[in-house]
Amino acid sequence: MRIIRYQNTEGTATHGWILEDKVGEVQGNIFGEYRRREARTPLKETKILAPCEPSKIVCVGRNYIDHAKELGNEVPKIPLLFLKPPSSIIAIGEHIVLPAQSKQVEHEGELVVVIGKRAKNVTAEQAKEYIFGYTIGNDITARDLQKSDDQWTRAKGFDTFCSFGPWIDTEFDPSDAVVTCRVNGQMRQMASTRDMVFNVGTLIAYISSVMTLEPGDLIFTGTPAGVGELKNGDVVDVEIEGLGKLSNPVKA
Ligand code: ZN
Repeated sequence: MRIIRYQNTEGTATHGWILEDKVGEVQGNIFGEYRRREARTPLKETKILAPCEPSKIVCVGRNYIDHAKELGNEVPKIPLLFLKPPSSIIAIGEHIVLPAQSKQVEHEGELVVVIGKRAKNVTAEQAKEYIFGYTIGNDITARDLQKSDDQWTRAKGFDTFCSFGPWIDTEFDPSDAVVTCRVNGQMRQMASTRDMVFNVGTLIAYISSVMTLEPGDLIFTGTPAGVGELKNGDVVDVEIEGLGKLSNPVKA
């Protein structure tokens, strides 16, 4: 099943489920008890919002060997974690705004895990039970500030620096899917999720040994090689095979 969040005819945010090119309302809690209404509204006519409202966005750095190398870094022996603030979230179609403080803003196309139930000290084997589904993410990064600051809060935390969506797929298999990122139609990044240093189960085990994960929390699983600059007027598309496409325009 594919779950979106959208603005209904009254202008309120509501969850929906997708059947072919139509959307039906989901009443209740998508992570608990809910009811699916008939899918009648054309998907094209809805304003799609970011598909959930995470309490935190946990990201993994250098989780593809080729990407660690392209920035001159070692591959970490344990997962390298950082956070993005929920205030940085934008939905499909919304502008990535280049901040004046940075001269080098880059895209990072990534597979994103959406947590479905509270997870603390979960093992890698148990991890599957705690996953609600998967979505597509763009971990936008001010690369110059990432290099000049000792930690990454500023470089990763600007408003509009976290795009994810357009939906959450509850049946997606993350073991071997191709992740691509294109800018103005030109291929920048392409790799399979099979090349991750730490797989999804290992990441959930490690992260939940540090912090309690709540329903709706996101894990950005790291980006493949090929990160590159975004300029005013660009359009960036992150696509994951079998999952969909996330597109955002860029403005200064
Ligand atoms: Zn990233």
